[in-house]
Amino acid sequence: MINMTMEDFLLWVIGVPMVIIAVVSLLAGVKHYARMRSMRQQIVCCRICGYLCEDKSRNKLSKCPECGSMNERGKSRRLG
Ligand SMILES: [Zn+2]
Repeated sequence: MINMTMEDFLLWVIGVPMVIIAVVSLLAGVKHYARMRSMRQQIVCCRICGYLCEDKSRNKLSKCPECGSMNERGKSRRLG
């Protein structure tokens, strides 16, 4: 038989699962943040007409499918 105090028992029954849940939640948060960042980089907002489109290419410039102007990837700097 295993000799265990009540404190040890509570540590193993409550403390260890809480640590595991915290680590799993942290890893899921990091994965979610990375995916959201990747998705945000694929969305391009046209500076001329404001049209939002998805561009999965790695090109720095993206052509707007609505008006045909070239737009730089990154923060939206709409002119009008
Ligand atoms: Zn446009």
